[in-house]
Amino acid sequence: MAGERTFLCIKPDAVQRGYVGEIISRFEKRGYKLVAMKFMKASDELLKKHYAEHVGKGFFEKLLKYMSSGPVVPMVWEGKDVIAQSRKMLGATNPLKSEPGTIRGDFSIDMGRNICHGSDSTQSAEREINLWFSEKERVEWKSMAESWIYE
Ligand code: UDP
Repeated sequence: MAGERTFLCIKPDAVQRGYVGEIISRFEKRGYKLVAMKFMKASDELLKKHYAEHVGKGFFEKLLKYMSSGPVVPMVWEGKDVIAQSRKMLGATNPLKSEPGTIRGDFSIDMGRNICHGSDSTQSAEREINLWFSEKERVEWKSMAESWIYE
């Protein structure tokens, strides 16, 4: 389904290290369509909702500190199989297990500094998009490149 959507979030380490453009560029060049994006500091309240499944785990406090330590770039991207494909493009959660060529495999080493988030399922994509973006913030537009990307 070409209309599938996912939630990606460029994390504070990537912003600090100047990888915002590079990360956006990879999804843009692949052919995926940007639907929403903002530049913001995430509140603890938002992060606790976003990472609800990890609340109480050993790494949670460090994760919260990391994700609230500076600005992030939350985004919604659209295209065929974008949820699974963007997870592949990101690489494994642990960058040491990520293949070279993936975003984490190319730009990171430690799990707690792994550069970019991507939804891992249809359900989490829907939940995360709704958590980070209002309906109004999602831009409906037709890409003129569409017929050059999809046969
Ligand atoms: N994380 C960590 N230590 C761990 C597990 C996870 O620091 O042992 C961090 C890491 O930044 C990861 C995030 O918590 O991206 C969320 O973990 P999840 O298992 O959901 O991985 P993801 O979906 O981000 O690949």
